[in-house]
Amino acid sequence: MLVYHLPGTFDTREDHLDLLWEAGATGLEERSGLIRAYFEQRTDLPEAIRDGEWIEETEQDWQAEFRRTLRPVQAGKITIVAPWQREEVAAGQLPLVIEPGMAFGTGHHATTRMAVEALGELDLAGVRVLDVGTGSGVLAMAAALLGASWALGVDIDPITIPIARQNARDNGISEAQAQFEEGTLGLGDLPMLEEEPFGVLVANLYAELHDLLAGEYAAHMQQGAPLILTGILTSKLGLVRAALEREDFGDITVREDGEWALVTARR
Ligand code: SAM
Repeated sequence: MLVYHLPGTFDTREDHLDLLWEAGATGLEERSGLIRAYFEQRTDLPEAIRDGEWIEETEQDWQAEFRRTLRPVQAGKITIVAPWQREEVAAGQLPLVIEPGMAFGTGHHATTRMAVEALGELDLAGVRVLDVGTGSGVLAMAAALLGASWALGVDIDPITIPIARQNARDNGISEAQAQFEEGTLGLGDLPMLEEEPFGVLVANLYAELHDLLAGEYAAHMQQGAPLILTGILTSKLGLVRAALEREDFGDITVREDGEWALVTARR
């Protein structure tokens, strides 16, 4: 790609922009104190704009760059990887493959990583897990990989459900292990939510929503079951703590990563 770098801006070189077009530029942009004029081929330029420089730039393959810079995410016993990184999972780690860019939940956000870590600290064997706001399905799938008897991922955004189901298939996780449905707590629109209380509830939402849903969390959990909440800005921890106390949750713990917090509690 041939680019002529001309010092200045569209303002300071206003009089010279027409000269660039007349000389055959196919496009002009302004970046970092330079006018960048795109040309198909080198050409003789008028005296007034000869203070620039011809540069042969290599085209940036953004997709390749994205794939190169994306790193696997280790979260406790689980390593979350993109499909082309399966070989990068260390021995002894459980791989969780997620195609990035489809729905929230690639593991690269601190809240997702902290939630996967917190799930990994529980004994999930034989436990039914509810993941509220499942997005890519990452937390329900992590629970299934960690031994949960069944995980249900629900989300109010219908776009996420086929994505989560495909991610589960890509990980060899059957519907008997993890299921994904459109819906949420408190609407009564999803009968399987109401069948029996869950042994663990995890939700990566946001503080105000945790405040609104805290009573629903309690109503859908077994006595003594662990609750994992994240998506909480540290500045809003007080709101979540007050909501949990209001609903008689105990054993409240907090962990933080930068501006994000994860709260655990027991019903
Ligand atoms: N669970 C994934 C993770 O941990 O990376 C995705 C979390 S993403 C921050 C929040 C998800 O919650 C979004 O997919 C959004 O559509 C969903 N959501 C928002 N409000 C909800 C609600 N009231 N009930 C269920 N899901 C909700």
